[in-house]
Amino acid sequence: MAEAMPLRKKELSSPLLLANIGQLLTLRTPGKSSGPRRGPELNDVGLIKDAAVLCSGGKILAAGEQREVLRHPARKKLKPREVDCGGRVALPGLVDSHTHLIFTAPRLVDFEHRIAGATYEEIAGAGGGIRASVEGVGKASKKTLAGQALARLDEMAAQGTTTVEAKSGYGLSAEAELKSLEAIGDAADRWPGTVVPTLLGAHVMPEEFQSKPEKYLREVAQKMIPAAAKRKLARFVDVFCERGAFTVAQAEQVFEAAQKHALGVRAHLCQLTATEVWPLLRFNPASLDHMDHVMEEDIPQLARRDIVVTLLPGANYFLGLEEYPPARRLIEAGVAVALATDYNPGTSPTSNLAFILSLACTHLGMSPAEAIAAATINGAHALRLGSEKGSIEAGKDADVAVFDVADYREVPYWFGVNRCWATVLRGALRLKA
Ligand SMILES: [Zn+2]
Repeated sequence: MAEAMPLRKKELSSPLLLANIGQLLTLRTPGKSSGPRRGPELNDVGLIKDAAVLCSGGKILAAGEQREVLRHPARKKLKPREVDCGGRVALPGLVDSHTHLIFTAPRLVDFEHRIAGATYEEIAGAGGGIRASVEGVGKASKKTLAGQALARLDEMAAQGTTTVEAKSGYGLSAEAELKSLEAIGDAADRWPGTVVPTLLGAHVMPEEFQSKPEKYLREVAQKMIPAAAKRKLARFVDVFCERGAFTVAQAEQVFEAAQKHALGVRAHLCQLTATEVWPLLRFNPASLDHMDHVMEEDIPQLARRDIVVTLLPGANYFLGLEEYPPARRLIEAGVAVALATDYNPGTSPTSNLAFILSLACTHLGMSPAEAIAAATINGAHALRLGSEKGSIEAGKDADVAVFDVADYREVPYWFGVNRCWATVLRGALRLKA
């Protein structure tokens, strides 16, 4: 899907004017709240018709009604490149706040087995699943992993995504996890968008540690986390809490190490089975992800905090599940929700966040406006980037996606096709070829 030439860092940020925008979705915060959107706020996309956006130095200088932006004094001074958007729809660059970017190959055996009726756990038990990707990453060079990651980031940019959270997690040894994080860093250095690296050493228990899990947890807590923090290779630490992976008590051990080394935390929770989330709340996670089986009694606690619950319906779709994450229950209770792809080779091989928005509308009962807010401003909050990303307003990073549609509701409406016409990544313009 990378139909245009890939962009590189050196092309960054000469002055740019996006003019003749039919609908600009600013996602500006209504009122003074600086936290994630919740409840009815999710429906307010801050729509301005006949709009323009002026950027320079990777930041937004002005955004609003075109006649006002055109009068901005910086326009005369900077003489920006002017792009006529032809009445199309512009929104904040999409924020994909949950991806497993580092893997080598698709898992086609899993795919066929599952179609034939095997469950997620049966596939894992037969040597497929996450462990099948571990062998590939273990053998690959850092250069190969970085090259693949960069190609995937370019593919995402072509579909409107400008910020990507990228996890390691198919290494499962200090050496391979750190190699994966280095590959993420190398790819990020060559991509004009923003990459947020996450260490997911606690993804599954490696085969050789099955009988001595404490030993692997020490590997994560005493080797991977200190090294990733010291070398600034990760901003977050993630844990996969699930039957067959890690318990909440084990996640607490991992989070204690993350906290000690000043890294943020996030977790995969309640994807396949219900788990109590309250023991993890004291670590103030930026985001708790999946949450299909969240317990009723945990919902009010989540609603009281600025923790984002990131819903990943791409996995439900690809696993052929009948049930989807309980978006309506969460939104109505006041929980801040985000949407992300969960891009990974086993359960959600899609880089297309607009498709996830479509799923959110058709299977989670979210309105187009709620889905867009969840994948922009709330995605930014899920990465603790709410003051820099996720809305189009002066002072924020110049991250914009322009879709070749006349009405923003068409973004989730046309599913399975890429309607992204242009992407601006920290001021760098990527036009569809
Ligand atoms: Zn995941």
